[in-house]
Amino acid sequence: MAILHNLGYPRIGEDRELKRAIEKFWQGKIDESELKNIGQQLRQQNWQTQQSAGIDLLPVGDFAWYDHILQLALTFGVVPSRHRHNEDASALTQLFNLARGTSNEQGNQAALEMTKWFDTNYHYLVPEFEANQQFELGHSPLLEQIDEAKAQSLPIKAVVTGPLTFLYLGRFEHEQKLLLLPALLKGYQQLLAKIAEKGVDWVQIDEPILALELEPAWHQAFADAYQTLGQSPVKLLLTSYFGSISIPLSDIAKWPVSGIHLDLIRAPEQLDAALNQWPIDKVFSLGVIDGRNIWRSDLNYWLDILEPVNRSRGDNLWLAPSCSLLHVPVNLEREHKLDSELKSWLSFAKQKLSELVALGHHLDNKIDETDRYYLALSQQVVASRAQSLRITNPAVRSRIDRLTEDDFHRANRYPERAKIQHQSLKLPLLPTTTIGSFPQTSDIRATRSAFVKGDITQAEYDAFIAGQIDEVIRRQEQLGLDVLVHGEPERNDMVEYFAPYLNGVGQTQYGWVQSYGTRCVKPPVIYGDVSRAEPMTVRWSTYAQSRSDKPVKGMLTGPQTILGWSFVRSDIARADVADQIALALRDEVDDLQKAGINIIQIDEPALREGLPLKRSQWLEYLNRAVRAFRLCASIADDATQVHTHMCYSQFNDIIASIAQMDADVITIETSRSAMKLLDAFKDFNYPNEIGPGVYDIHSPVVPKAQWMEKLLILASEKIPLERLWVNPDCGLKTRDWPETLASLQVMVDVARKLREQFKNS
Ligand code: GLN
Ligand code: ZN
Repeated sequence: MAILHNLGYPRIGEDRELKRAIEKFWQGKIDESELKNIGQQLRQQNWQTQQSAGIDLLPVGDFAWYDHILQLALTFGVVPSRHRHNEDASALTQLFNLARGTSNEQGNQAALEMTKWFDTNYHYLVPEFEANQQFELGHSPLLEQIDEAKAQSLPIKAVVTGPLTFLYLGRFEHEQKLLLLPALLKGYQQLLAKIAEKGVDWVQIDEPILALELEPAWHQAFADAYQTLGQSPVKLLLTSYFGSISIPLSDIAKWPVSGIHLDLIRAPEQLDAALNQWPIDKVFSLGVIDGRNIWRSDLNYWLDILEPVNRSRGDNLWLAPSCSLLHVPVNLEREHKLDSELKSWLSFAKQKLSELVALGHHLDNKIDETDRYYLALSQQVVASRAQSLRITNPAVRSRIDRLTEDDFHRANRYPERAKIQHQSLKLPLLPTTTIGSFPQTSDIRATRSAFVKGDITQAEYDAFIAGQIDEVIRRQEQLGLDVLVHGEPERNDMVEYFAPYLNGVGQTQYGWVQSYGTRCVKPPVIYGDVSRAEPMTVRWSTYAQSRSDKPVKGMLTGPQTILGWSFVRSDIARADVADQIALALRDEVDDLQKAGINIIQIDEPALREGLPLKRSQWLEYLNRAVRAFRLCASIADDATQVHTHMCYSQFNDIIASIAQMDADVITIETSRSAMKLLDAFKDFNYPNEIGPGVYDIHSPVVPKAQWMEKLLILASEKIPLERLWVNPDCGLKTRDWPETLASLQVMVDVARKLREQFKNS
């Protein structure tokens, strides 16, 4: 009989209870014990939900305050020395300090860096290893939670991120990371021994880096590490997800692990070889319900595949979602505003468990009423999606079919365009600009939520937005910026904002997913062919332009970013969805320029994070991403200046693709790397204009003029002056007004000073 298990359940709670509680704790409104109680209640609820759905083996250790990698780092005492001064703080306060940074008489202790968890929109905190790093098992929330679950006699397995993944994701500047492995393994051995003492048989040991193309040294390290850990008195379920395992299963079969988990949603092609290579007497766990997306499964499809596997593997077949359900919203039942058709196509964490159970019960011939309901629904949904007119839009398809190479090129090349643009825009040397958003004040947030609740009318809301734009324009003129923005006060989020204007894209009410710490996002749902329902930004862009004689940039979010931060249909290729989004944006670009907007920025901050986990697949992705960008931008006339913006600090390996996007101007984040990043642009001989960020917007500190000046001079040594712009690293929406005005004034003054200097030299 197949065993049904779950890799992890969303920790935020149906109503984002965890977020609310932690934020209250930070504000001093509840104390630590109250916060811990709420955490415990959430864990109880989650276990109960999973158990009543029919899951046989419940995960313990998937819950984390803020982030599970941070929690694991603390378990092993991996705390950078700058944070070690505060020894009497409680473990929980220590954890929040590491996550958010602290300041005291000795200055600021920066938070740990935050980075994307593989190709998801979840961010983990990067452990920092120091020279001679030791990994002593200290206070372990996992062990406490095991006690909690055991006290209720729940059937559990422990969940822990494995040592290779933990090491790989951390930062170690001293020598090769793998040299730390022996010490780290000691910590893991201690932890596994304690887990065994508590009477837990199984440990799900997550090694998602198995889906990367690892260097041989890491392959060897895997083999060595699991030789060691395999001696522990627990059974290890070596768990991969997000892609196919890059180490041959026939090798892994020789390691002393008791089971393997494969993600058959992302890498279904693994199954056949695995059936041949994975020993029949070891547990074979298959991830068959999509843990990364929100579509209801085609259960019949899986029944056909799994029936023979179930016969041959018997009790050693385990079934689960493909990965932790951390990446999907909690409960679809709460969505009352979705129309019934779209809602029937969806499945959130809670529903996914029932799908899994229905599948398992059917395989073992023990279906009950609920299973029958889920099986029937699945069948019905497959049929309804195949036929629904909302999915396929013939007009979109034929527009895509009719595209020609010309649709992917501007009329002229950059040098000719630049001449035309410089004549019409009449910008000074070193033009100054910002990235788009200005502070999203509490006033803006309160007014938006009053509008959403229906407390104020559309007319009142519009008048408010107009007033905000007036103010932002006035302030920018006062600062003396050369290219203005409207400030984005009407946008809650740079992706969510566009969803209501796009056919084929839906929005949930409570579809929250943890992005980092207490921040949750509600990704739009791209369910069908995408087209623009009506102009999306023209109104406020033209309004803003009407308030100034200086150019005001039109502001759009690019196709890769809309794609990357949404739940995307899985019945056609993602790159094809990106093309459809690009066409919708192309219409917007055209309308903007027709309405007199001469500079249009298409943000693509998510371009890099969309890179496939396996490097051998990068080029294919990049080529399609570049084409999608060009498809929306190339409608711009020569005189329309196209900007793009990206905010990360690694361009070396994708610079050729960035150049192929052929934006007239790119603004990027460079200040934190002191312009080192520009080397990539210099070495490549980047042909168009660049605005390297001259100050870090993540900090409220007003940068010193000397510092900005130094950065700009550095930049001018790498980029020809006539192609250099001056701007902050990113949008200013998270900042407050006083520091924003002060910082921008320094920036404008520095640009003016250097402009004079360079003219005279
Ligand atoms: N235009 C957006 C803003 O300024 C860009 C945000 C981003 O790069 N993430 O907020
Ligand atoms: Zn940015």
